[in-house]
Amino acid sequence: MKNVSFSDLGIQPEILKAINEMGFEAPTPIQGKCIPAVLSGSDVVGQAQTGTGKTAAFGIPAIQMANSGSKIPSVLILTPTRELAIQVTGELIKLAKFTNGVYTVPVYGGQPINRQFKALKKGAQIVVGTPGRIIDHLKRGTLRLNNLKFVVLDEADEMLNMGFREDLEEILSYSSGKAQTVMFSATVPKAIRQIMNKWMHQPEMVKVEGKAETAAGIEQFVMEVRDSVRTEAVCRIMDVGNFKLALIFCNTKRLCDSLVQDLQARGYSSDALHGDMRQNVRDKVMNKFRTGQIDMLVATDVAARGLDVENVDVVFNYDIPQDPEYYVHRIGRTGRAGRNGMAITFSSGNKRKRIRYIEKMIRTQLMPLPMPSVSEVRQSKMGNHLDDVIETLHAGGLREYIDQLEPLAEGDFTPIEIAAALLKLKVHAQ
Ligand code: AMP
Repeated sequence: MKNVSFSDLGIQPEILKAINEMGFEAPTPIQGKCIPAVLSGSDVVGQAQTGTGKTAAFGIPAIQMANSGSKIPSVLILTPTRELAIQVTGELIKLAKFTNGVYTVPVYGGQPINRQFKALKKGAQIVVGTPGRIIDHLKRGTLRLNNLKFVVLDEADEMLNMGFREDLEEILSYSSGKAQTVMFSATVPKAIRQIMNKWMHQPEMVKVEGKAETAAGIEQFVMEVRDSVRTEAVCRIMDVGNFKLALIFCNTKRLCDSLVQDLQARGYSSDALHGDMRQNVRDKVMNKFRTGQIDMLVATDVAARGLDVENVDVVFNYDIPQDPEYYVHRIGRTGRAGRNGMAITFSSGNKRKRIRYIEKMIRTQLMPLPMPSVSEVRQSKMGNHLDDVIETLHAGGLREYIDQLEPLAEGDFTPIEIAAALLKLKVHAQ
């Protein structure tokens, strides 16, 4: 991983501020390549899937290039589905939070066209929409595309699969091939190449190579849990596995901070490591982790660079990494110095696609791991208490306690019942 930061990419300060507020620490590989290429004026074809940060890869230049305050849209983003249109709009609104005069309006089928008409009339600089609905607006004269500077075709292969080719070409003809054009597509079949040849000018191909080798000796698991259950899962796994040192990866600084708060509230000693912290604070945290004063370190990819701790028992991917290479780096923090290690990646619902992509790139299948049950956690805690009891027996010095218990044992209770009651007290004292 090269050390690229957002401020190296030619992004304007208002957007940098928004990026920081969103908690993004460093550009993802696709962003690092795509943003400078687009800002230098090139047409770009990006081969990347959802989860790689592709929306911001085209969204940041889109905001920067939009004609602020203009009544006619200067940026058009086409998506295959309304869900994606809504998602892209949400991300653009966040990225444009501090940029004056750049508003994003989504237009998609299924929503009353009049509402969209009103929104467009107010003046939108960026329009995000599905091809069919964009054509509707063009026919009604409620959308003008004669001023477009920048056009994005997101998930272009999906749009073609859904039969939008004619609509796409009709829309592209409005800007008569003059607008700078960026296309994102997971695959580049012949039909995509034809569109590139016809509507794009010597596009730069941006692809993130997924060359990724994982180390042997690391057991790699995937655990299916809803996002809201991940923290509980981390705690149960730590308890059942009796792990001493865990490294937990999140994709944003914000999530690191909130997860540390949640873990601390549950009584687990943890700390965050991310780029918003000063170097001396980071050093202190690192030191605490190395010396076992904290059990869990919650880090971003960037902050964990160069992290060299030998006995990390388990690495958690609380968020799925945005690049297979990140995955390899992350899990490589466990299983060091010939020890065995364990890596657990949380997934749910449509994130499975991203897991499959990582599996393909690392040529390894992650093994499904069920979430430990409450009774497994109890059993494991009980086992730990018994170990403590045995240790105490070996250490001796029990006379004073025996004197207290002997009268009880001579009464109605057997010694084993008394021991069980004491163990129960200890379990519940936690
Ligand atoms: P996408 O591939 O565009 O669907 O993005 C996947 C997720 O990654 C979204 O939730 C984004 O907000 C998030 N994201 C995008 N860029 C970054 C970044 N540089 N660092 C952390 N998260 C990011």
